[in-house]
Amino acid sequence: MTSRSSRGGASLRPSGWRRLALPLALGFAAMGAARAAPAADPEAWQLQMHGELLAREQAAHPGDASVPVPARQTLWLARDGHFRLETENRFPGEIVFRYREAGDAQGAQRIDLLGWRDGTAIQAVDAKAAREHLADQLLWLPAELLRQSTPLTPAQEQQGTWQQTLRDPAGRELQLRWSGAQGRLMEVRQGPLRYVYLSSHDERGLQPAEIEIFNGERRTQRWQLQPPAAVDASSTRPPLPAGYEPQAPAGALRAERLAPDVYRVEGLASRYHNHFVVGPQGVVVFDTPVSREEGSRVRALIERTAPGLPIAAVVLSHGHRDHAAGLPAYLEEGTRLFVGQGGRQALARQHGAAQAERAEEVRQALAIELGGRALRLLPVTSSHAEDMLVAWDDASRSVFHGDLFYVPEQGPVPPAFEGAEELQQALRQAGLEPLRVLGVHGRAANADDVRQSLALRHRQP
Ligand SMILES: [Zn+2]
Repeated sequence: MTSRSSRGGASLRPSGWRRLALPLALGFAAMGAARAAPAADPEAWQLQMHGELLAREQAAHPGDASVPVPARQTLWLARDGHFRLETENRFPGEIVFRYREAGDAQGAQRIDLLGWRDGTAIQAVDAKAAREHLADQLLWLPAELLRQSTPLTPAQEQQGTWQQTLRDPAGRELQLRWSGAQGRLMEVRQGPLRYVYLSSHDERGLQPAEIEIFNGERRTQRWQLQPPAAVDASSTRPPLPAGYEPQAPAGALRAERLAPDVYRVEGLASRYHNHFVVGPQGVVVFDTPVSREEGSRVRALIERTAPGLPIAAVVLSHGHRDHAAGLPAYLEEGTRLFVGQGGRQALARQHGAAQAERAEEVRQALAIELGGRALRLLPVTSSHAEDMLVAWDDASRSVFHGDLFYVPEQGPVPPAFEGAEELQQALRQAGLEPLRVLGVHGRAANADDVRQSLALRHRQP
């Protein structure tokens, strides 16, 4: 291994740079690997990092377009092409996601390590996606990226920096930019994504210490990385925890009847579920995940289920994008639109001023007949979203909510987050005892599930 005796760029005077330029032009890959490879030449690396994601339309305050989400992740990357990535993100409402993806270029498996969002389902990642996910991991360790990628152009000088095009192992083109003064990797572009290497543990930026990721002009992630540690390749192949099983297929798009005139949408590719009730004069829709395209498919399903009836009202549990993005597909002339307090701000950003204007903000509990059906709309004080609103259907004793309570499609009832306490308190205050607790994620739940989930939460250390 070659190494420089002094750190930083001072040792690389312009003459030093000219000496560097020839090997750069001849081939970055070999030289990068030679410089970066630790003496032991490990069979695998472990990289620990922490930082934040900027999540769009997920803030607790509806006036904020995005929210910083604290994140940490550990990557295990083996020279034999296996990888394992474990991520942890903390969303408003103390909602923690912890996932593991492990595999190689032939395919990977993804599991929810906390078992609340996806329960015990093993999500299969097909070969194409796995190959791309594996290649994505190389951007955390450019030394290995250079070793595994194919140079397409020699490095060329442009306005004092050096640019080079590579093809990554997934077959995608990468543009690399190196600083002219120091021969240090500055950034890698891959499609709309730009990895900016702000500082590194080595002189050439091949073992980054700080990375910002941009999607177009928007910064979406920021990470601080520990130096890579040498580990055994076997650490990339962790045993599957007990109880996990292949994810059951979502099946065809359908409206499942839960009670007279109460329906739950099943079979969307996103695996979200919205709900609707059919009154004598019209249909009321609860939440509109997760895109206009899915909204249009659900709208057609509602027309087949309740032919000839207008959409009397849409009730949005809160303004987060995954609950509100499909909204335009449901709005007709005369459709009433209900959001929680402040919810118009989120709608205005996502769907424009006109849609926001038509929304009615519910500031206090409201008993209301919609489509000829007796409903109640209850604002909920929630740490997940300030504009939180739940709907209650008198006839079926169902509560429709968003992100306050979770039971996965498959697997046991998990410990609750704060939202379940908030939901329970709102229902108690209103004197309501639900038979069904219905949200866009996971399976249809009942009051026992809520009790059990809260008991597990309180038993946690
Ligand atoms: Zn949400």
